Amino acid sequence: MRAGVPFDLAEPLGATISEVAARLDSGELSSVELTRLCLQRAEATASLGAFIHIDEDGALSAAALADSRRAAGAKKSQLDGIPVAVKDIFLTKGIPTTCASRILHGYVPPYSATAVDRLCDVGAVSLGKLNMDEFAMGSSNEHSAVGVAKNPWNEARVPGGSSGGSAVAVAGGAAFGTLGTDTGGSIRQPASFCGVVGIKPTYGRVSRYGVIAFASSLDQVGPLARCVDDAALLLEVVAGFDPADSTSANRGVPDLTARGGAESRLDALRGLKLGVPKEYFAAGLDGEVRSAVDAAMKSCSDAGAELVEISLPHTDYAIATYYLIATAEASSNLARYDGVRYGARSGGDESLGQMYGLTRDRGFGPEVKRRIMLGTYALSAGYYDAYYRKAQQVRTLLKRDFAAAFAQVDAIVTPTTATTAFSIGEREHDPVSMYLSDVFTVSANLAGLPALSMPCGQDTSGLPIGIQLMANHWREAELLSTARALEVALLDASQWVYPWS
Ligand code: GLN
Repeated sequence: MRAGVPFDLAEPLGATISEVAARLDSGELSSVELTRLCLQRAEATASLGAFIHIDEDGALSAAALADSRRAAGAKKSQLDGIPVAVKDIFLTKGIPTTCASRILHGYVPPYSATAVDRLCDVGAVSLGKLNMDEFAMGSSNEHSAVGVAKNPWNEARVPGGSSGGSAVAVAGGAAFGTLGTDTGGSIRQPASFCGVVGIKPTYGRVSRYGVIAFASSLDQVGPLARCVDDAALLLEVVAGFDPADSTSANRGVPDLTARGGAESRLDALRGLKLGVPKEYFAAGLDGEVRSAVDAAMKSCSDAGAELVEISLPHTDYAIATYYLIATAEASSNLARYDGVRYGARSGGDESLGQMYGLTRDRGFGPEVKRRIMLGTYALSAGYYDAYYRKAQQVRTLLKRDFAAAFAQVDAIVTPTTATTAFSIGEREHDPVSMYLSDVFTVSANLAGLPALSMPCGQDTSGLPIGIQLMANHWREAELLSTARALEVALLDASQWVYPWS
């Protein structure tokens, strides 16, 4: 079985970007044909709910342009003519953008996010906008105003969230790569649940200009794809300084491209010190997830890595800290949706206050309202010191835990999630259990670290299991080499066929 694709898809839909790019190069396939296949696949799998908006005309004309560039020998990049799609949190010029919220119904942005522009500039074909939890708040895609997205491995299960549609489109064969955002796990957790690779880069690595803000000290843009090489290719395109985003870092992007076959990839594990934080292997971790991650770690040590037990002692406080900071920032960011500047408006016949109230009451879903109330409370006079300031102090302690760990080890390995994909409806009405879905992912956001999730096996019911790798700030190149080596090391264990094997 192909990595990241739960079924045998008719070729070339299950292929990786480099495979399909080679077929475009040889002329065996055109980008228009490939784009049509993806659009048909999206249509045939509409019940998975991956897309909120499909831009068929835009995609086909971008594909035709890519074909003529290739014919003229002027291919822009490896991604030229490759169908991709982006989470509906990215502004897309002239194309509706709702963030899966009723409050943005009818909003058509006048410009595109830098990350989207960068993909289009290298010739990637954007198929449209992907489903998500409203304003990226959630871990299951159930909090979407347009309805839940479903896990392609088992439609009774959630795909994870908030970038659920981004994972479903890749795993379901409708797109070769997608962009998501990750505030507390929203790329890695759905990647884990859907058996694909997802990367959250270092805070500041990718521009967030034109990305609808949820929690600005945590949000980061990243790719989802079928293998590490594909994800790296996408990351390399979107990463890098953007003068339009004051939080994007003005530093060079390292070469993230893969080199070499299986043997030389495996070299990255030789002598590597891999930290295993004991707090991530405690009660609550599903037995099958644990065995798959244990087996993957064993493959790493067989390949020459040294497993070092480490401690991240403040891990227990990460969820509480995250849900204080994320909600506080969200309550402030979401104040702008007032019925005046964007999207839908309700009421207004009586007074401005009545219009604000009705617009927000009708426009926001229950989870978004809950977050705004929690966040406003945490920031209010008299509570600020007890909650928000305290959370910031604990955030510093969490950062110090990682700094101490990275003085000892090169990378950290953990499960991405404590369980495989849960059933639709199972946690929807229990916010605390939903919030606990992020227990292994939020710390990387609080510390600003790069982290990725990649498939490492399946449970007995066939659902994918994800493993998380974290590295020190700005170490995406090393993180990706480690992940590529792990793909090789996992070949036997996962039974998944990787393109270079
Ligand atoms: N599930 C987490 C939350 O609900 C993370 C969301 C995200 O990363 N956007 O806040």
